[in-house]
Amino acid sequence: MEDKVIVDGLTFVPYIRREEIQKEVKRIAAELRKDLEGKKPLFLCVLNGAFIFAADLFRETGINDASISFVRYSSYEGMTSTGCVKQLIGLNENIDGRDVVIIEDIVDTGLTASQMVNDLKRYNPNSIRFVTLLHKPESSKTGFKPDYVAFNIPAKFIIGYGLDLDGKVRNLKDIYVVKE
Ligand code: 5GP
Repeated sequence: MEDKVIVDGLTFVPYIRREEIQKEVKRIAAELRKDLEGKKPLFLCVLNGAFIFAADLFRETGINDASISFVRYSSYEGMTSTGCVKQLIGLNENIDGRDVVIIEDIVDTGLTASQMVNDLKRYNPNSIRFVTLLHKPESSKTGFKPDYVAFNIPAKFIIGYGLDLDGKVRNLKDIYVVKE
C-alpha cells in the first residue's frame, strides 16, 4: 500500500487495506449465499465504480445459478454531487419474478440507490437486495438503508478499489481517503 496518492493536486492517505476489503467481501458473500439459497439471482453491477467489488463478490458467492448484468447511473462530477441522478445505461434483462441483487460502490446521499430500487420495482422482480461496499450514513438525504454494507464510513471523499476521481485511480488495490 502506498503511504499517499496524489491526484489532481489532492493528497489521499491509506484508509482501508485490501485484506480488510477481502474479509468483508467473504462475509457478505457468505450472507448472500445463505439468504439466496435455492434461488437463481440476477446480480446487477452499477457501473463504473462497482465493477471491481462486483467481480470479487460475484466470484466469492459461488452461486452457480447466478447471473450478472451491468447498469449505469451517474450523479457526480469531480468531488461535488450534482444532486440530479441520471440513468445512462438501462436494463436489458427481464427481471419479472427474479431475485435481484444490486451491487454498488458507495451510498452517499442515497439518491442513486433509492431511484434505482424504485425504477427496478416497476419491473416486478420477486425481491431486490442492495449491497454496497461503502455507506456514508451521515450524508443520507433519503433515509435509504442498504441491506448489506461492507464498511460504514464518515462523509469524506474516498478513492480506490473501483472508486475514481474524475475517472482516475480506480485501479488502486486499497481504499484511500482525502487528506484534510
Ligand atoms: P449518491 O446518489 O448516494 O449521492 O451517490 C452515489 C454515487 O456518488 C456513487 O455511486 C459514486 O459514484 C459517487 N460518490 C459518492 N461519494 C463518493 C466518494 O467518496 N468517492 C467517489 N469516488 N465517488 C463517490
